[in-house]
Amino acid sequence: MKTQGSMALSSLASADDWEPTWIWMDGELLPWGSATVHVNAVGHASVAAVFEGLKAYLADDGRSLLVFRLQDHIRRLFDSARLTRLEIPFEPDEIEGAVLDLLGATNLDCDMYVRPWAFASGLIREQMVPAGARCTVAVDCWPFTPRLDQVGGVDAAVSSWQRISEASMPPRAKAFSNYHNGRLAVMEARANGHDWPILLNDRHKVAEGAGACLALVRNGVLVTPSLSSGVLDSLTRDTALVLAHSMDIPVEVREVDRSELYLAEEIFFLGTAWEILPVTTIDALRVGSGVRGPVATRLAGAYEDMVRGRSDHSEWITRLDLGSRSAGRNNQRRRT
Ligand code: PMP
Repeated sequence: MKTQGSMALSSLASADDWEPTWIWMDGELLPWGSATVHVNAVGHASVAAVFEGLKAYLADDGRSLLVFRLQDHIRRLFDSARLTRLEIPFEPDEIEGAVLDLLGATNLDCDMYVRPWAFASGLIREQMVPAGARCTVAVDCWPFTPRLDQVGGVDAAVSSWQRISEASMPPRAKAFSNYHNGRLAVMEARANGHDWPILLNDRHKVAEGAGACLALVRNGVLVTPSLSSGVLDSLTRDTALVLAHSMDIPVEVREVDRSELYLAEEIFFLGTAWEILPVTTIDALRVGSGVRGPVATRLAGAYEDMVRGRSDHSEWITRLDLGSRSAGRNNQRRRT
């Protein structure tokens, strides 16, 4: 049992048994128990924390949400937890259920972004949060506006910040702490008047964007950095490769030189949030004709058809019927 207040430290079995009475927070001393933050305030727990970002697209009938690659995202959440030695106290299918329950309870018939996340919780005094620390899991969601019909592009710049490497921390982990790397690069890009950075890796090869992978087109070939380039194992990148294959677009997965960015006919970011987002200027050089190119246009069309359930790959879609408009586990859900 935790001991509170002014009891002599010597009477405790260990300092870990002592629970404070007071804490100072945002300018005032507060009783220990009332100094709470909302679970969504990720800043308080972001060193040992992993997350996922996935999307549920509204089906054409307007009555169901199609959750895209739910199982794959939750598998990656568990991979991220393993890489950062966090124990998620749930089974993957329970987290999948939580996503569907939250969407059902939120009950909005629009495209939704969902973020499941897990962070070391409880009374943690050790900055180096020990392996296997107890985890809290939360899921939140919010509406988003898809960009798949966006023909105009963004202005990107190669960052002076290097993408984290296997020598520092695992780029494959979708850990909040990794995002300090991307955040610095975004701030640098914005300070220099660009929209988004492109990060090179420790071998000076192209890695990815701050929150998305990258592909380019050279001589009609779709080229994307290999998974050993310091990138997240992106599901959008994987989806684009599958779509390109089915559309007979030639593909190369390999190391990509910086100079290839300046010679590319097309460049686009690939990510759940950014979808297939054209880059139309790179370091102030116009890419192709300065608008979304033909390969990105074909991929975006096929991607939209897939996520809206109009094409094959039903194994990647979990359908949640909004028909009953009731919250929670009563919603009908099925893999289509
Ligand atoms: N790289 C980083 C650093 C990301 O944050 C993301 C977004 N999850 C991606 C790549 C793209 O991954 P996905 O396509 O699975 O969203």
